[in-house]
Amino acid sequence: MAEIFQAASVGKHPCPECGADLQWNAARQALACPYCGTVVPWAPGKEPEPGASVVEQDLQQALDNPASGRGWGGATGLEKREVQCQSCHAISVFVDGKVARRCDFCGSPAIIEHATLNDAITPQSLLPFKVSEAQMRARLRQWYGSRWFAPNKLKSAALTDTLSGVYLPYWTFDAQASARWRADAGHYYYETESHRDGKGNLQTRQVRHVRWVPAAGSLAHFFDDQLVPGTAGVHPALLRQIEPFPTQTDLKPYSPEFVRGWTVERYQIDLGKAEKLNQEAMQQQMQVLCGREVPGDTLRNLQVDARYQGRTFKHILVPVWLVSYTYGARSFQVVANGYTGAIAGEQPYSWVKITFAVLAVLLLILLLVSFNQ
Ligand SMILES: [Zn+2]
Ligand SMILES: [Zn+2]
Repeated sequence: MAEIFQAASVGKHPCPECGADLQWNAARQALACPYCGTVVPWAPGKEPEPGASVVEQDLQQALDNPASGRGWGGATGLEKREVQCQSCHAISVFVDGKVARRCDFCGSPAIIEHATLNDAITPQSLLPFKVSEAQMRARLRQWYGSRWFAPNKLKSAALTDTLSGVYLPYWTFDAQASARWRADAGHYYYETESHRDGKGNLQTRQVRHVRWVPAAGSLAHFFDDQLVPGTAGVHPALLRQIEPFPTQTDLKPYSPEFVRGWTVERYQIDLGKAEKLNQEAMQQQMQVLCGREVPGDTLRNLQVDARYQGRTFKHILVPVWLVSYTYGARSFQVVANGYTGAIAGEQPYSWVKITFAVLAVLLLILLLVSFNQ
């Protein structure tokens, strides 16, 4: 097994008091000992220049050598277990810690040991949790409270539901794009035309026409940290609502201390798939950018020939808080950004409440009508 494990150089952080392994504590924004409570600032003095340590990896090289950069820190002797949910198929990784008894993503207890043929690509960097569990509960209570037509049971669930802190896998891509484009540029002009109206009188009106002129040009654009989620556990529509994650400024080099005691999801969109999604997204953006270059008022037949050079990627982890609950036969997910606190969620609707609201509105209309008579 190839072990090019960059984070191994970070080393372990034993508790200075009792020697146990330290864990990341979101409330204190520091490492803390889960046994004796000692708090230690994150790697004082050891932290490299911001951004300097988070290295972009060459994409082509990684695709050509699928065995490199893999493993979750075997070099540091960390224990790692993977389990897969039989219900939603999310794969959770637990580094040096206890394995959860229920799936963090859907709440199902049907989780089985997951054996992999090859190791996952090691995350190079992550955003550590910034919003603590207590802060998240307060925000969730507000959020639940603002849900119209939600069953009352949901509001009490805000206090009792299990909140899971999960690191989600993301890919970020950089590329230097250069494109040549050609299009027909359309210029508007107006002509006065006359016509007869219904009564047979002569009328004039302004009519818009387009003069088409061929145009061409070139455009260069740098794509920086384009995100592609690798998660299978969180519903994509929810994820889009809690983005962005500030990956350009606040990433920390991966270290096991950050993930110990938290759940990490193993990506199921692999590098090859993610790279294609990224390429499609860049192509769409280049179409838009080149379209803006076309002179005139409108355009047609836009053709963009874009090249992407120096493509690099990072595999990163971002923090989310998750609540999953079943209501009736369906399961619902509430997801919060563990860094910015943004919340998005699915909710059941109480048909009793909606029916009463509709009846109340109808009654009001009836009353108004009878008063007016
Ligand atoms: Zn300790
Ligand atoms: Zn599940």
